[in-house]
Parts: sequence; C-alpha cells; structure tokens
Amino acid sequence: MENTLTQANTETMGDAGGDPWLLTPGPLSTSLSVKRAMLRDLGSRDREFIAVTHRIRESLLGLVDGYGSHECVPVQGSGTFAVEAMIGTFLPEDGKLLILVNGAYGKRIARICEYLRRNHQIIESPEHRSVDVLALDKALTADADITHVAVVHCETTTGIINPLGAVADVVASHCRGLLVDAMSSFGAIPIDARRVNFDALTASSNKCLEGVPGVGFCIARRDALRKTQGNSPSLSLDLHDQWSAMASNSQWRFTPPTHCLLALDQALEELTVEGGVAGRGARYRENHRLLVEGMRRLGFETLLPDGLQAPIIVTFLSPADPCFDFGVFYDRLRQRGFVIYPGKLTAADTFRVGCIGRLGETEITAALTAIREVLDELGVENCAPAAGRAA
Ligand SMILES: *Cc1c(COP(=O)(O)O)cnc(C)c1O
Repeated sequence: MENTLTQANTETMGDAGGDPWLLTPGPLSTSLSVKRAMLRDLGSRDREFIAVTHRIRESLLGLVDGYGSHECVPVQGSGTFAVEAMIGTFLPEDGKLLILVNGAYGKRIARICEYLRRNHQIIESPEHRSVDVLALDKALTADADITHVAVVHCETTTGIINPLGAVADVVASHCRGLLVDAMSSFGAIPIDARRVNFDALTASSNKCLEGVPGVGFCIARRDALRKTQGNSPSLSLDLHDQWSAMASNSQWRFTPPTHCLLALDQALEELTVEGGVAGRGARYRENHRLLVEGMRRLGFETLLPDGLQAPIIVTFLSPADPCFDFGVFYDRLRQRGFVIYPGKLTAADTFRVGCIGRLGETEITAALTAIREVLDELGVENCAPAAGRAA
C-alpha cells in the first residue's frame, strides 16, 4: 500500500524530464502524469472524448461554485483568444467598455477593443498600485453609456492582486456587466461566483490549473450569456455559438485540441487530489514565501509591498551593481535548470520569478541556490536596486 502511494505521488509530482524548470507565468512545468495523459489519439466525435469535455466543463464550474447559475464555455487557443472571445461576445456593438488598467494585460484588453472597433475607455493606475475603485465609481456615475467594465484579477505584469470583490460590488451597484481576466489566478486564488457578481470570466489551461497550453474557457452567468447572441464579430470566437452548439450535441464546433484537453482533464483530477483551490493556493503561497525570503536574504528587493503581491509571480528590482547583467544571469540560470522571466514594466528595471506550476520546496530551494551561485560567478556583491522600490 505504502509503495503504491509513493509511486502515485512521484508520478504526479513535477517532472521537468531533463528540461529546465519553468519559473514563469506559463506555460509551466507539469507533472509526468499530465504529460502522459496526452499519449492518446481520441477522435473529436468519440464518446470518450465527449465525456472528457463534459467532465472538464463541470469541474471548472465547480471551482467557482457556479453550478446551476453559470455556464462554462471552452474555446481553442491561448488565454488571449479566450479574452478576445469574451469581449467580442459580451460587449454588444453599441456597448461601451470601461477598462481598469494597471499593467500589460489590461492594456491588451484595450487593444482588443480597438481591433473589434468597440467603444472603450480606460482608467489607468501605476503598475505598482491596485486599480482605482473610487475612480471606477465616479466614472460609472458620470457616464451612462458604459455598459461593461473589464478588470484583470491578478496582473501578471507585476504579480499584483486587484480587489476583484470591491470592483464587482461597485459595478453591480451601477447595474453594469463585469468581465474578468482571471487568467493567472484561476485555480489558486478563490473566486466564488455566488458572491462575486460577474457576467463573464476567462482563464486558460496552462497557468494555475497546471495543464498544457492550447485551450481557454469562459465562465459566464447564464442570464448574461443568453443575451449575447449575434454580438460576436468573429465566428470562431463566438462563445454564444460555441455554447449553443455544445448544448445541442456536446461537441466542439471546430477541431478541439484533444491532447490538451486530455491533459487538462488529468490536471483537474490532480487539483482535486491536492485539495482544490485551497490546497493549490497553499502550495503556491509557500513557494512564494520561500522565494521572497530567500531573495531578500540575498539582498534583492521586491517591486510590490507584500500586501499587494499575489503568490503567483514576483517582480524583483534588478541590482544596480554593474556586474549584474540580466542576459547572462538568465542564461546561466537556464544552464543550471531554471528558466526565469524578464520584466515587463515600463517604469523600472526588473525581472520576474514565478511560483506556479508543479513546483514545491525542493525546486524553489534549488533555484535559490542556483541564483546565489550565478551571482557569485558574475561577481555581484550587492543586490540592492538603483533607486529602491518605486514610490
Ligand atoms: C497569461 C495571461 C493572459 C493570456 O496570455 P496568453 O499568452 O494568450 O496565454 C491574459 N491575461 C493574463 C493576466 C495573463 O497572465
């Protein structure tokens, strides 16, 4: 019995299989069992595959307690495809979207609106600050043309967590629709669809759910989804059409990413075994704590104060020491088996390290050791940033 357990655990632990560990915002390191789940060729009209799709949709709904009130509509592609599908489907041609921006993913929603030629407006906050709930309230009072609001739950640009509950309450008090990009929080940071009032929310397979890239999904309030027929300017990204087709024959309209869905099915099973969103969140918080404590011991500073930081990905300020060169730092860490991520900030010189994926204490500790070794090799003596944390 003990042996079987050990074996099962090994199988579902992270397995980089000789590739470097990915300390990034996705794609991420997955378990061996998730990778193995893809070693099958199922037909898209096959009964077993239809059951896989059904199980995935049900369990995604379960993660937000959306049974009965919400629908899960999957869509092929990376996360951005799902966000674009959500905006195109939920924002009618005569609608207007107010976008709360404090990073690159909020700005991407504005770009999507430009492509779709949808009326929109942004309220921009600095990247190291939460989105501005008071300004949102004022804007909704002032402009009756705004039909919907969009917000990014965890802005992966910095790793900041935005106050989703407060935003949702303000939007609901003005009777407008809320569209959420929950890409990098879904599955690790709780979202309760019975308490947070949103029309639609999107996420993808390859972040906190620990599947492989290739599919996104939208969780939508059924009443809101029903009203979206005919809105979408795109056929392949029309979530209403995808939903009605699935409702009638349980099948995808166009070729589904079958292998990716088999992997996601397995990944969701492993999420359940880990204790669901609470269990996964606890492992990521521990990864995050070990990482930040270890980096601070080395002299690094985080961009964000601890209270604004999600346990997903951490932005560190680059050391001012002239011996520090991010390109060389990155390459040498990769040689030692760890891939980190460049910064995406407009304002400060930074880099990012992710806490998500099939990683735990062993990998984070080993990454910290590798970081210390590389700093020694480079001759970096002081990891303090140039001007300290952004004000
Ligand atoms: C990853 C991510 C996306 C989607 O990015 P893709 O590269 O299209 O998968 C969107 N929003 C946020 C906040 C993300 O972290």
